[in-house]
Amino acid sequence: MDCDIAIIGGGVIGLAIASSLADRKSNIYIVEKNDSHGRGISSRNSEVIHAGIYYPTGSLKAELCIEGRQLLYEICAENKIPHLKIGKLIIATSEEEMATIEHLWMNAKKNGISSVSLVAQGKIAEMEPHIRAFGAVFSPDTGIINAHALMDYYLCDARSKGADIVYGTEVVGIDKISGGYRIATVNRNGECFDFDSERVVNAAGLHADRIAGMVGKNYVQHFCKGDYFSINNVKKGIVQKLIYPVPEKNHAGLGVHLTLDLQGRMKLGPDATYIDRVENYMVDASKKERFYEAAVKFLPFIHKEDIVPDMSGIRPKLQAAGEDFHDFVIREDLPGFVNLVGIESPGLTAAPAIARCVRDVLAARSVLA
Ligand SMILES: Cc1cc2nc3c(=O)[nH]c(=O)nc-3n(C[C@H](O)[C@H](O)[C@H](O)COP(=O)(O)OP(=O)(O)OC[C@H]3O[C@@H](n4cnc5c(N)ncnc54)[C@H](O)[C@@H]3O)c2cc1C
Repeated sequence: MDCDIAIIGGGVIGLAIASSLADRKSNIYIVEKNDSHGRGISSRNSEVIHAGIYYPTGSLKAELCIEGRQLLYEICAENKIPHLKIGKLIIATSEEEMATIEHLWMNAKKNGISSVSLVAQGKIAEMEPHIRAFGAVFSPDTGIINAHALMDYYLCDARSKGADIVYGTEVVGIDKISGGYRIATVNRNGECFDFDSERVVNAAGLHADRIAGMVGKNYVQHFCKGDYFSINNVKKGIVQKLIYPVPEKNHAGLGVHLTLDLQGRMKLGPDATYIDRVENYMVDASKKERFYEAAVKFLPFIHKEDIVPDMSGIRPKLQAAGEDFHDFVIREDLPGFVNLVGIESPGLTAAPAIARCVRDVLAARSVLA
């Protein structure tokens, strides 16, 4: 065998897994088709450390988000990764939405998040005087992080323990062979190269279903795009916390919300639109009116001219448009071959717990067929 473990994908998930699995005894390669790590979903998200409020109790999304959040704060503190625990308000903009707020609060409690509380209108006015809300769930443990700094840390840690990354190399085929897998790749010059690995971890993000398909496993990921609009910097500092409306009923997204980055810059988004299977990151400027209308309900200080198209990201969703909740899939589908499929939000938060989970799955199998 050329290597012990091949990890396909150098996003936050593949890098966290490499950091968790690497040790001086094993030979681990991350194979990444781009010329640098973290250019996929991991560089196009809200960079929020989620608390785990929304997800159904007992789901992987709930459990790995909560475990991942705790681990992430520890990793950030120990390794000086820029982050801030700024807290989040999920707000009702009308009395009718209060039932959803209470439901979210109860769900958070069921998920074991004891820090969340229900907040009345008067208290919200003290916490965030410039927003409009009837009532809210307050999550003090929600935070923001520099996702690139986190990925750099994971890669550096993995490399220091002997793992390596190969850039500009796309996995185009996989065959089961005796004692492992033969992986066919093409590099940026169009040159083909095969190598053999005892184990394989498929962390290919938007294309994880295609990689799984190479070994006969049939998953379908639907692309669900989220556009962001940024808010003029003159409004910087008006709001201190992340402000979310009640989530969309169709499970596609969390509703157009206000995110802050570590410099205090404000963004609205992401929305959720199912698209064809093309990585098109153009922001649809014609959505400006819709973003404004959605946001002004709870951010009355915003004017239409304050918002401009910013960035977008694409979620790999296992549920098609209109379908109910689907969980992450983290599964050893073939001996020593672990597929990670549908790793949408809260994947960034859950990354260290997902890595722990993959390590456990692989540790449970010592001899390969
Ligand atoms: C709009 C949006 C907002 C989000 N906000 C948050 C948030 O605030 N908090 C949170 O916790 N999560 C959030 N998420 C989810 C989070 O960003 C993802 O779960 C996470 O980044 C997924 O990481 P990944 O490593 O699986 O995917 P990626 O980062 O896409 O990495 C996969 C890598 O695999 C490579 N690859 C693909 N195919 C091949 C191949 N054939 N050969 C070689 N390499 C290949 C790609 O180039 C890519 O680099 C958000 C997601 C979106 C889309």
